[in-house]
Amino acid sequence: MYALEVKNLSKSFGTLKAVDNASFTVPEGSIFGLIGRNGAGKTTTIRMMMNIYMPDGGEVILRGAKVGQEFKNKVGYLPEERGLYKKMRVLETLLYFAELKGKTGRTVTKKAKEYLERFDLSNRLQSKVEDLSKGNQQKLQFITTVLHDPEFIILDEPFSGLDPINTNLLKEIILEKKKEGKVIIFSTHLMDFAEKMCDHIAMIDLGKIILNGSLSELKSKFSQKNVSINYEGDISFLQKHPIVEKISDFGNTTGIKVKEPGQTQELLKILVQNNVVVKKFDANDISLHEIFVELAGKEAGQEVLNV
Ligand code: ATP
Repeated sequence: MYALEVKNLSKSFGTLKAVDNASFTVPEGSIFGLIGRNGAGKTTTIRMMMNIYMPDGGEVILRGAKVGQEFKNKVGYLPEERGLYKKMRVLETLLYFAELKGKTGRTVTKKAKEYLERFDLSNRLQSKVEDLSKGNQQKLQFITTVLHDPEFIILDEPFSGLDPINTNLLKEIILEKKKEGKVIIFSTHLMDFAEKMCDHIAMIDLGKIILNGSLSELKSKFSQKNVSINYEGDISFLQKHPIVEKISDFGNTTGIKVKEPGQTQELLKILVQNNVVVKKFDANDISLHEIFVELAGKEAGQEVLNV
């Protein structure tokens, strides 16, 4: 049995089909990534899962039964638009949201202080939320999501706006939660993040799920025909070669898709025969980004590095 099953969810806004018959499954104890470019339909899907939007059709199944009100108490949800009460103080905010989920008392206060310490906010317990920086407000909101120890943690673009140190901290906590057996679902347009963290993924594009399953299985399926290479020389002759289906330039690496599984070794031979200096030839590895480009045809969201 799956922890969650999303079955044929659809939602239109006017004539726009924001989510179009989306189905995917989330196994127990996993980190699940809902991935896709901006506007793909991730937030709308999550809002339907959270019962914020009524779907036009479809349903969400929680451990075999149609999801109802009780889900709200089992879940910690980080919405895309962050929003806390600006005039409330930091510790007060945490205790308030924990109480809404039925958690009060010394244990929760202790835990709140521990999280604040980890996020380097322990000197801000009495600060007003509005006096915190945006990043710090985001950290605080993340703590409200996990403090009541929910079984399900649903995070809509959790990494946006965080610096690398806090991004790592968030990842660390997500991994800890997985070890505790929780189910974590997060949306992201950053394929790299999903790739490093998720056990299972669903890829959404133009409202449709274009891929769903175990990340390692999906990768091995796609890698049978795909090779990543680094090289010196001229590979333009490959463009019309009978075993080559497609060549994609990813900047640091070049992806080559052959027509049949098993033609990858032949490809290596051809490269060497044509005096191409092959610096890396990886027939077992394909990135999620490459899979996305293959399926959706256009460039996916990439982390922009400004130095
Ligand atoms: P992002 O990564 O940019 O947040 P997303 O994958 O979460 O994107 P959604 O926010 O679900 O995408 O949006 C899917 C589509 O539905 C978009 O074209 C968006 O403009 C549209 N949309 C979302 N919410 C509404 C709304 N309340 N009214 C009208 N259109 C909407």
